[in-house]
Amino acid sequence: MKKFLPLFMLLALVTLFSSCTETKVTRQSFAFDTVLNITADEKYNEEISEAFRMCQGYEKVFSRTNKESELYKINNKVSVLPSKEIKEVLEFSLDMSKKTDGAFDVTVAPLVDLWDVNKRTAPPSSEEIEKAKENVGYENISSAPFSLGKASLDMGAVAKGYIADRLVDYFKEKGADDVIIDLGGNVALVGEHSVGIRNPKKPDEVFAVIHLKDKSAVTSGAYQRYFDYEGERYHHIIDPRTGYPSDGDILSVTVVSPSSMVADALSTSIYILGEDALSLCEEFPHTDAIIIRKDLNTATTKGFAEKYSLAYK
Ligand code: AMP
Ligand code: MG
Repeated sequence: MKKFLPLFMLLALVTLFSSCTETKVTRQSFAFDTVLNITADEKYNEEISEAFRMCQGYEKVFSRTNKESELYKINNKVSVLPSKEIKEVLEFSLDMSKKTDGAFDVTVAPLVDLWDVNKRTAPPSSEEIEKAKENVGYENISSAPFSLGKASLDMGAVAKGYIADRLVDYFKEKGADDVIIDLGGNVALVGEHSVGIRNPKKPDEVFAVIHLKDKSAVTSGAYQRYFDYEGERYHHIIDPRTGYPSDGDILSVTVVSPSSMVADALSTSIYILGEDALSLCEEFPHTDAIIIRKDLNTATTKGFAEKYSLAYK
């Protein structure tokens, strides 16, 4: 029997509706500060366990806060030789910075730390922001030869995408042809499924549904992590050019791409740059996006509705 199965997760940004049969299992784990869900045929149970183990391994590569992680050691100059994984994500991130004129910046860490939106109740001073900006700037670092100078790296806008791609590769190698990987709303599919895009004003509700095959869908939005102060919302996506959380007419951006890393980095970038930056999708194969504006009107790349059977709820 085919049915829509909603998987509402506390931290998920995109909700999945999957056509399931009795043999499907959905299992949950936790990493990267978020809930992970993987759905696959039950014969891939052991592979799901291995995928979760891979996530724990990647946490020890990309976490910026875990003192045992590679990124922590690199940022704190305990280690200076990056792994293949860090190098790959860094190279991609630097390319993204060039394409976005620095709106996307993997060296944004000092500003992310200063804004610390999970703990703060009021914005930092402009002096503090200027000071934090001093060590932000992708132009000051290089991937080969690897050199950071005084900069430190934050891969929070792109690492989950990279990891989702590796999990897709893993399940395909194992012969699976129907898998839903949901890393806290960063969704990657093996096979064909309908994916719900959350209403950014009421995140427990589905705003629209799209139909995807072998693609990833990643959403960035101000409603995910933020604090409110004197009627203003301060969220976790920082515009490195101003030093402040990006401020525009957009509530959320969902990017669809065969590469989850591309979708992840682009959703963050378009969120900062605004609607004109939808054209950035053209620089990546089979990549599209939908923006939900503050008035809940939408803007999309050309042909989005037809390509993905977009249906508003
Ligand atoms: P996402 O949720 O994928 O849009 O990424 C947001 C996360 O990326 C934040 O929590 C930061 O860790 C990091 N970040 C914030 N602003 C930027 C930026 N301008 N460029 C790159 N990474 C950023
Ligand atoms: Mg992102």
